[in-house]
Amino acid sequence: MKRIKTVVVFFTVLIIITGCTKTEQKTMFAMDTVIQISVSGKNAKAAVNEIEKKLVELENLFSVTNEKSEIASLNKNKTVTVSYDTLEIIKQALTVSEITDGAFDITLYPVISLWGFTKNSYKVPTDSEISEALKKVGSDTVKLDGNTVTVSGEIDLGGIAKGYATQQLRNILQKHYIQSAVISLGGNALVYGNKNNGDLYTIGIQHPVHSDMLIGKVKAKDVSVVTSGGYQRYFESDGNIYHHIIDSKSGKPAKNGIISATVVSENDTQADAFATALYVMGIDKACEFWRQNGSFEMILVTETEVYVTSGLEFELSDQNYTKIIIE
Ligand code: AMP
Ligand code: MG
Repeated sequence: MKRIKTVVVFFTVLIIITGCTKTEQKTMFAMDTVIQISVSGKNAKAAVNEIEKKLVELENLFSVTNEKSEIASLNKNKTVTVSYDTLEIIKQALTVSEITDGAFDITLYPVISLWGFTKNSYKVPTDSEISEALKKVGSDTVKLDGNTVTVSGEIDLGGIAKGYATQQLRNILQKHYIQSAVISLGGNALVYGNKNNGDLYTIGIQHPVHSDMLIGKVKAKDVSVVTSGGYQRYFESDGNIYHHIIDSKSGKPAKNGIISATVVSENDTQADAFATALYVMGIDKACEFWRQNGSFEMILVTETEVYVTSGLEFELSDQNYTKIIIE
């Protein structure tokens, strides 16, 4: 008898904030996660209202499971004239696919569907089902013509949508001259400006093994801190664990030694897509990618080590791990 146990962990990047004044706070549920918004400044209320509206708007465009969304319509009808945001996120996703050599790939949806991720109907597909589905995968299955998108397979923006949304929220904060803000969307966090006392924010990075612990803390300002980990969504079948980040080469959950990948970057969209891609790449390729790209910092956690790029102010919290600086 097959035993399938499903676990979805809604986790939050912990942010340590002190000394905020005139702060407007809001908690909501969108994009499949709990979102916590904290904004300080004269126009905080107007900014929070606009942020809330934008998140709902983007969710309604991007959700692969909401049949009224542009993405669901694209997957069903194959050609759709899309809104500015949908076109923009697809363009940015295709660019990341190209520079990560397909480690990040929004066209993996036919494979992701087979595993039942996003629809919560988990099952382990056969190798022949996977190789059939992989035939529908690849950036060449997406064509852009002005604002009309055509797909021959199916796409899923789950690995980039929260990052793109964060970028739009950052624009709203700028428009309202917000002094400082912290927005947490599950594994994505935006820290904007300084704390009211002028200090940098301290962002706690979730421990990938012990959910009540931090693996470490980062000090930063004006960045997105995004973590991808197999522990965030997975199911168990016949004693094996299958998680939601798929290796586009095998069509199976990525298994290259990384158990969580965190990106720290001023480019919110890339931070999200890169975190997913680095998880798939494994340590060696991820380090090579970081050296070539140079526009972000990262923290990669394996079973015993924490690899941290040299530009990051990172304090290790779990002394059972060895910290290795990447240069
Ligand atoms: P994240 O939590 O940002 O790493 O995104 C994981 C989600 O992105 C999954 O739940 C899938 O919907 C989708 N996904 C899985 N594997 C990939 C991949 N290799 N490239 C792009 N998106 C992926
Ligand atoms: Mg991602």
